[in-house]
Amino acid sequence: MATPAQARVDLAAIRHNVSLLKEQAGGAELMGAVKADAYGHGLVPASEAALEGGASRLGTAFVREALALRAAGVTAPILSWLITPDEPLDQALEADVELSAADARLLGEIAEVARRTGRTAKLHLEADTGMSRGGAPLAAWPGLLAKALELRAEGVIDIVGVWSHFACADIPGHPSIALQIEAFETALKLAEQAGAAGSHVIRHLSNSAAAMTLPAARYDLVRPGIAMYGLSPIPELGDFGLRPAMTLVAQVGLVKRVPEGSGVSYAHLYVTDRETTLGLVPLGYADGILRHATGRAEVLAGGRRRRIAGRVCMDQFMIDMGDDPLSAGDEVVLFGPGDGGEPTAQEWADTLGTITHEIVTRIGSRVPRVHEHTSSVTTGTSRRP
Ligand SMILES: *Cc1c(COP(=O)(O)O)cnc(C)c1O
Repeated sequence: MATPAQARVDLAAIRHNVSLLKEQAGGAELMGAVKADAYGHGLVPASEAALEGGASRLGTAFVREALALRAAGVTAPILSWLITPDEPLDQALEADVELSAADARLLGEIAEVARRTGRTAKLHLEADTGMSRGGAPLAAWPGLLAKALELRAEGVIDIVGVWSHFACADIPGHPSIALQIEAFETALKLAEQAGAAGSHVIRHLSNSAAAMTLPAARYDLVRPGIAMYGLSPIPELGDFGLRPAMTLVAQVGLVKRVPEGSGVSYAHLYVTDRETTLGLVPLGYADGILRHATGRAEVLAGGRRRRIAGRVCMDQFMIDMGDDPLSAGDEVVLFGPGDGGEPTAQEWADTLGTITHEIVTRIGSRVPRVHEHTSSVTTGTSRRP
């Protein structure tokens, strides 16, 4: 390993997961959610793997993420759904990036850019069906439709999608699920009656959890994220046959023998109870190893699980290897698919009281992503191990 640590990303696993999701989608299109650097897996290689696995579209939060995909030569349709004032909308229209809109202010701003650049903006209108995050509340929905139809008549926008997002799809049986589907049906009916939802308009509602458990909510397209990367959207229901794509490894840096009673790392939260050998692992909270993992999370080192000994620092943490030490340069596995006895990202999430989305997206920019099992059709943006 030429670097102190790396995140290995198995692109074959992403292709496998996406084809599994596509199969389950029963004819619906699949838009791979690749925001936040493809959940930390490397935007371009992971997106290419998703497209190879059967995704026909990609979704990002911000326009800049979509533009990065275009700059890398990705030609598939891309939707950006989190548009704030002063996003580079002219570049978005130039690069044929589809945009989400949920209020008249943004519609107006997009129309202005479309008039100026002479390009028709492709819009997905977002309804708030009960999450109260993005989207137009149903009370404002007819007004949004009216404004969008006006701009469509002017020729500055096209309505290509109507969509919404679940708040509780990962909580099977949550009463809000049925209510959100009902509200989405209402939004669709209003759009149809207004003439804003013709047959070419794509209706979409489902994240990973919904795509895998709610056939009634598939509509024309599903928008999975976490499941593409092989992590279960509903851990209580098992792994759904998904394969975790990311393995986070580090090289043991310093190895040293210390006496009984040695206080380890900041605040001496761990004190050795015998003479022992400590190993330094060069990953810290700046790399996404949450400080909260102090004394909690485990790693696989020398074929055995070892708990993080003492405080996680900015760049490093220690493990207590007892009388069974590794050597400097040996590999420690923080998490991976679990096949070799290493913890999984799910185990880290459970230990730290969070979700796997947060575990993988927080791996920092100092940790190189090394892409494995690139297929022959990828453009070579990723490295082989
Ligand atoms: C992140 C996101 C998704 C994917 O969610 P997962 O839970 O990772 O499947 C889908 N749609 C929108 C709007 C999102 O923000």
